[in-house]
Amino acid sequence: MTHVGQQSTETLQALDNAHYLHPFSDSKTLREKGARMIVRAQGVYIWDSEGNRILDGMAGLWCTNIGYGEQRLADAAYQQMLELPYYNSFFQCAHPPVVELAKEIADLAPDHMNQVFFTGSGSESNDTVLRMVRHYWTVKGQPEKFTIIGRHNGYHGSTVAGASLGGMKAMHQQGGLPIPGIHHIPQPYWFGEGGDLSPEEFGTQAAQELEKAILELGEDKVAAFIAEPFQGAGGVVIPPSTYWPEINRILAKYDILMIADEVICGFGRTGEWFGSQHFGIKPDFMPIAKGMTSGYIPMGGVIVSDRVAHTFEEKGGEFNHGYTYSGHPVAAAVALENLHVMKEKHLVQYVKEDIGPYLQTKWQTLADHPLVGEARGLGLVAAIELVKDKATRARFDESVGIGGICRDKSVENGLVMRACGDTMIISPPLVISHSEVDELVEKARLALDLTFEQLQALGAV
Ligand SMILES: *Cc1c(COP(=O)(O)O)cnc(C)c1O
Repeated sequence: MTHVGQQSTETLQALDNAHYLHPFSDSKTLREKGARMIVRAQGVYIWDSEGNRILDGMAGLWCTNIGYGEQRLADAAYQQMLELPYYNSFFQCAHPPVVELAKEIADLAPDHMNQVFFTGSGSESNDTVLRMVRHYWTVKGQPEKFTIIGRHNGYHGSTVAGASLGGMKAMHQQGGLPIPGIHHIPQPYWFGEGGDLSPEEFGTQAAQELEKAILELGEDKVAAFIAEPFQGAGGVVIPPSTYWPEINRILAKYDILMIADEVICGFGRTGEWFGSQHFGIKPDFMPIAKGMTSGYIPMGGVIVSDRVAHTFEEKGGEFNHGYTYSGHPVAAAVALENLHVMKEKHLVQYVKEDIGPYLQTKWQTLADHPLVGEARGLGLVAAIELVKDKATRARFDESVGIGGICRDKSVENGLVMRACGDTMIISPPLVISHSEVDELVEKARLALDLTFEQLQALGAV
């Protein structure tokens, strides 16, 4: 067997600097600092090449739901590689792991969703969704229903369609995005944009932005609305309780398809199998990825409603779309085993009834910190808003870079916590224990204290 990663940190960093282009990274600052080399992981912990143990408060990138080091997933991959490492499903073929996985997912999905298209990632899932939505309306004889409405600060991946559907300004600035036929409305982010309204008033108002956009664009021109049940990469933005009911009303009124991007919410994060079940959303499409394999191997998919699947089957003809690795047998076998592990450990129930409420109660204790304007969360995600003035929700000057300071203090002291601007977020593995939650919250408080000290030294507080 080839062994990698036996070299010194310096050697690895030199190789990294010379040859490895990182996703979402500024090469210049990265090269100056040198990348942290993560060499192994177990449970909720990762270790770097210097032997530091770090609690992974982000479950990798919102994906290692069952935690690291699960032997059963490794065995499933190994067995499947020997049995059938690859075959496609293009030319009227299929294989056991993919059909079993599709059945398993259909059983977990809302009752009206029973068919699954497989992809290699969340981004590919959203590329697939864009084509499915437009194909659907064409087949229905309404090809002018073409525009898809997304939201500012939504995240739907990094391919051309994914980044276009998403509302990340910094992504749109590179590469001439968004592509035509995509429109963005404001996000339901009460803390940042709610002004003097109550969260409930603001939630209704944010939802009504959808109706305004539909009327402006013309209801016969709008194909679909895409949204994450709660926004992940945008900073764990959890809509006020009034938001989703109003969105549901508007979508039904104008016959517009609903795409619930479940790439983060799916597979237990909210305490239900899907975020749509938690929020009462009625999707036509659910893009999935991340937690579906707990990140052990890349795989994504799109769960499709019966209404759409039947239309395609009856009148759609050949759907000219697919990936070499659609339904990859090894990925499917790993996903299937991941779902079996989740079910046997009752992980979704654990999030809903036990560890989710426990984390949220502990997380709320951070609200008294002088830097914290709000502590919020749901299931096993949470956020804190860093502010200069708790009463007015006023932010620090951008030049302070408080989010980045807090993230660095956190990682240096043994907790991966991510910064989205001045919002600190966590999304730990679903298997996290009570004592590990205690450790996570203690380390988050320590990071806040050290951030405060640094701001004092800078004269910013
Ligand atoms: C991560 C993410 C994606 C993109 O998934 P990739 O596997 O990175 O392509 C899409 N949608 C949401 C909501 C995500 O969080």
